[in-house]
Amino acid sequence: MVSPETRNAYTATIGIECHVQLKTKTKLFSAVGNDAREAPVNTLISHIDLGMPGALPVLNEAAVTLAIKAAFALGTRPQKFSKFDRKHYFYPDLPNGYQITQFYDPIIKDGQVAFVLDGEEKRVRIHEAHLEADAGKSTHPAGRDYSLVDLNRAGTPLLEIVSAPDIHSPAEAKAYARELYLLVRYAGVSDASLYYGNMRFDVNVSVSKTTELGTRTETKNLNSFRSVEKAAEYEINRQIELLEKGERVIQETRGWDDARAETFSQRGKEEAHDYRYMPDPDLPPIEITDEMIAAIERTMPTMPHTYREAFRGLGLDPTAVEALIDVSENAAFVKTVYDTFGAEHAKRIANWFVNVLTGENDAVAENQASVESAVKLSQMVGDKKLSSTAAKDIWLEMSTKGGDPEKIATDKNLLQVSDEGEIAEIVKKVLAENPQAATDVKNGEMKAIGFLVGQVMKASKGKANPTLAQDLIKAQLGI
Ligand code: MN
Repeated sequence: MVSPETRNAYTATIGIECHVQLKTKTKLFSAVGNDAREAPVNTLISHIDLGMPGALPVLNEAAVTLAIKAAFALGTRPQKFSKFDRKHYFYPDLPNGYQITQFYDPIIKDGQVAFVLDGEEKRVRIHEAHLEADAGKSTHPAGRDYSLVDLNRAGTPLLEIVSAPDIHSPAEAKAYARELYLLVRYAGVSDASLYYGNMRFDVNVSVSKTTELGTRTETKNLNSFRSVEKAAEYEINRQIELLEKGERVIQETRGWDDARAETFSQRGKEEAHDYRYMPDPDLPPIEITDEMIAAIERTMPTMPHTYREAFRGLGLDPTAVEALIDVSENAAFVKTVYDTFGAEHAKRIANWFVNVLTGENDAVAENQASVESAVKLSQMVGDKKLSSTAAKDIWLEMSTKGGDPEKIATDKNLLQVSDEGEIAEIVKKVLAENPQAATDVKNGEMKAIGFLVGQVMKASKGKANPTLAQDLIKAQLGI
């Protein structure tokens, strides 16, 4: 193990490449369905995806539109001129013998991703982002002497987003990955399902004791934020251990074993010249007009940082703000409440989203409550018609099934009793049954009043308004 002192003597430098599957109906160069999630193997293929001789790729304009949106999401503008190149390598799941990608002139050449980590604002520059076609999938059945190839994924449009080496800790790597996920989801660029591999991260790590960068390794195909963090952590420690022993770090591609939480050597790292990049003669350059860029810019939705700023005035816990922003629909809901009905309702509803939905019921996918009914529920709490516990109960039902809060409260018998006469009767009874506590309160021991209020709540089966109960106790004791 590396001691904290040794670890502190080194600076870690991390850069992340992220492959994002674009949310298009069809593939990047063929008119074949792009949703391979549940499709039987080798059913979403055409002569183009199979690399048949003479088959010519035709660029899918929707992929270009999404790349332009991604540029805005990354805080920049797209390149008006970009083009495709061939990257050569030989593998059974790549029928052409080359991948169509953008090497010399990518569609995005800069940008940045900003996020907050432990209260501190971080900014990671984007080096470039390029369009490319995905390869197929190979599987190697255990104990068999053959491999299987599924080309459904071949030709799926990808945007590969390459960060500058601006990341310096595993926690920053994880926060960057999550922010990128939010950006592409909010912008509608990708479904970004980590489960289906819509986003895959390659993490480049090096360590050094000087200002000169050390030799880096690339750990490929990480599919969760947690594995990005763990792989970076593992590589930093492994490299420091090697250097401390007087050994060298080898530049290589590594894999990630999630079960063992370890990286492992896969192959020596290729240099760019190994791929024999050359312009693709089958595809004309992508030329985007100012009008097209402006039209797409107008369709850009509200992005996460705008919500963060908007919610600043609510006094929410930063963790709650992030949990809310995790689901863009919920963030938009709370912002509408805030803009139209004010901070009190917005804060209460935000906390319901965060604590009730994510805490108690992960399975809830889409909120079913309307803004009006949510505000009505919040108003009932404000008017002391409901306890906060009862309100959470009602919210759980409203957000999963919809419905009117007043009706649900009546059906569940949750409305607080604010009828003075009724509560006064209960108070009278409670005071008679608890003479010691009553005397204590009378003698100024205000701790005992909590006990009495508790007894009133119990006697009313939780429906008495506690503030009113307390006032009535004081009144009846003449204090
Ligand atoms: Mn790539």
